Amino acid sequence: MKRRYYSTILILAGVLLTGWLVSLKRDLFKGTPYSTVVTDRSGELLGARVAADGQWRFPPCDTVPERYARAVVQFEDRHFYLHPGVNPVSLARALVQNIRAGHVESGGSTLTMQVIRISRHRERNLWQKGIEAIQALRLEIRCSKKEILALYASHAPFGGNVVGLDAASWRYFGRPPSELSWAEAATLAVLPNAPSSMHPGKQRDALLEKRNRLLLRLLKHGDIDEAIYETAITEPLPDNPHPLPSLARHYVERQPRGKRTRTGIDIHLQRQVEVIADRWSDDLALYGIADLAALVIDLHNGETVAYVGNASPERKRSGMEVDIAAAPRSTGSILKPFLFCAALQDGLILPNTLIKDTPVNLGGFTPQNFDLQFHGAVHASEALARSLNVPAVHLLREYGVPRFHKLLRDAGLTTLTHDAAHYGLALILGGAEGRLDEITRAYAGLVLAPKGFPLTDPEAIWYTLDALKEVSRPDEIDPRLISSVRRVSWKTGTSYGFRDAWAVGVTPDYAVGVWCGNADGHGVPGLTGARAAGPVLFDLVNLLPEDSPWFEDPMQGVVAEVCTASGYLAGPECPEKVTCVLPRKAQESNPCPYHKGGVFTLPPVMEWYYMAYHPEYEPPQKAVHNEAPLQFIYPEPGSILYLPRQMDGSPGAIAFQLAHRHPEKKVWWHLDGDYIGETQFIHEMMLSPVPGKHVLLTVDEEGQTASVAFTIAENTK
Ligand SMILES: [Zn+2]
Repeated sequence: MKRRYYSTILILAGVLLTGWLVSLKRDLFKGTPYSTVVTDRSGELLGARVAADGQWRFPPCDTVPERYARAVVQFEDRHFYLHPGVNPVSLARALVQNIRAGHVESGGSTLTMQVIRISRHRERNLWQKGIEAIQALRLEIRCSKKEILALYASHAPFGGNVVGLDAASWRYFGRPPSELSWAEAATLAVLPNAPSSMHPGKQRDALLEKRNRLLLRLLKHGDIDEAIYETAITEPLPDNPHPLPSLARHYVERQPRGKRTRTGIDIHLQRQVEVIADRWSDDLALYGIADLAALVIDLHNGETVAYVGNASPERKRSGMEVDIAAAPRSTGSILKPFLFCAALQDGLILPNTLIKDTPVNLGGFTPQNFDLQFHGAVHASEALARSLNVPAVHLLREYGVPRFHKLLRDAGLTTLTHDAAHYGLALILGGAEGRLDEITRAYAGLVLAPKGFPLTDPEAIWYTLDALKEVSRPDEIDPRLISSVRRVSWKTGTSYGFRDAWAVGVTPDYAVGVWCGNADGHGVPGLTGARAAGPVLFDLVNLLPEDSPWFEDPMQGVVAEVCTASGYLAGPECPEKVTCVLPRKAQESNPCPYHKGGVFTLPPVMEWYYMAYHPEYEPPQKAVHNEAPLQFIYPEPGSILYLPRQMDGSPGAIAFQLAHRHPEKKVWWHLDGDYIGETQFIHEMMLSPVPGKHVLLTVDEEGQTASVAFTIAENTK
């Protein structure tokens, strides 16, 4: 009898020891799916998504707020801070109770044992309870009381699909656990006790009674005073579950799944930006513009502080959730500042260099300005401020499409999926697609200067921002429509067919981007960056705190004399000069080519268009150096031309145009060596050459010549 007793003890000890050695997992809740939880920069909840198993189970926290901690310890396990994981007294008492009842009625489990039980999902019987007890002892060795309590709070069931204190607090009270009242903390402390049979939705009286009993216990224990107790017991139970906060919805969607992510969003600014975006979205919807995206980047730390992926109220109703701020859209003119800045940094131009604004034809690509006019020559900064297309194309041709293509990629644009040749010169006019988030970040890069950012010359950047400060854009906007109390460097963009309206602005503290249009891509007449996106941009800019003074004038560049008229480095013959601080490479740039013999003279084609806007300009009376007074306007050298097709299908004619400084001079025309005609005053000739290469030669009565080589392509259309 005695031997049997010992062997039983031995076997039991062996079992216990084995259990001790193999039982407790390193990570108790390994493999548990968690909700996606996204907070703002100070930890405020922006939004959350259910875990993969459909549960509202927030990723575990390290700590438990004081009120809840006291309430749950008082309710579940009064001696929690004293026992080693198992409370023999209550265990024995529960054992007796359970034997009397004939089944397990719970009770006797410490919080530590409950952590083990929740992690194991096993049947509740005496054997399992034994294992729980052993593992609880081990858990106590491994973790502090605080950690064990946090594990419990993070994984306890709270009824329905709500798991853990965090999710429960938000679902039942619409608040984080740290902000719960004593009554609320007590409610959540009693809930997991029998979550399936009692939650705020049912058996409310029983729950209320249980809560109040706990509050009384807290009073007796000295956790709360009489006044708090009296108020707490009058607090009603929560009603329907609260919807979780849903701010920066699309940004929340972009964060890693099943994790808690702290973003740089500023929840207060986010709320305000959403209000403005929604209001404008309602407004624009009246004009058939359904979608609007906006974002704000803090230029002190590079964080995205507000993000509206799509304000569209229409879409919210239909449940379509396109994050248009991250969708590739046609860029319109929104990339022009990067070309201006790159050309400045490169010494290709100075801020006010005159750039050609004359017709271009490259293989049928004939860009136009917004006003459909050519101005002959325009200062670079003015061309940027007025967003002229043709000077931008001339400039890109000089800078090089492949170089600019690479620069945009280096600036963070991931949407240039084709090679440079695919885009050609149209790259600067919206031929490529871009995402609002990436483009706004590229603008921010001008100030933030992140590692690897291709535009680094402080003077080039200063002049770029300075040119964009001018709000006057006569061809796109009535400045009176835009009310701004704030200074901002900004640029608009409008894509072909009025499909996309962009406005991106930079202040010393923030970069702000706005896009509006229709996600499905259909255009709306009048949808321009200036009219649709510009006012939204200014509303947002006015919202932002203004901290820093405006960008300081350039200091570190090279000091040089610049020709006032041409904007080039001043040559010996330039009459008016101004001393400027310029980008470093400016010293390598060309001297003024237009002052010859002290007279400002443009080449004939530039002059031809320039004179219409500059009545003070006088063409030179006598020949200038070696320059011919006549020059082809159309075509450009090397052009590939297509003959238009006539109604009957036969090839039509192209108007070949020549600019002569003195239009009254007679000009004789020759095609491939054959004389074909004579012009005077209006030097234009309608021709339909056969497909192939040709040379057109013109000679005026003084023997001055101009010639152009071009190709007529087979018209297969
Ligand atoms: Zn000059």
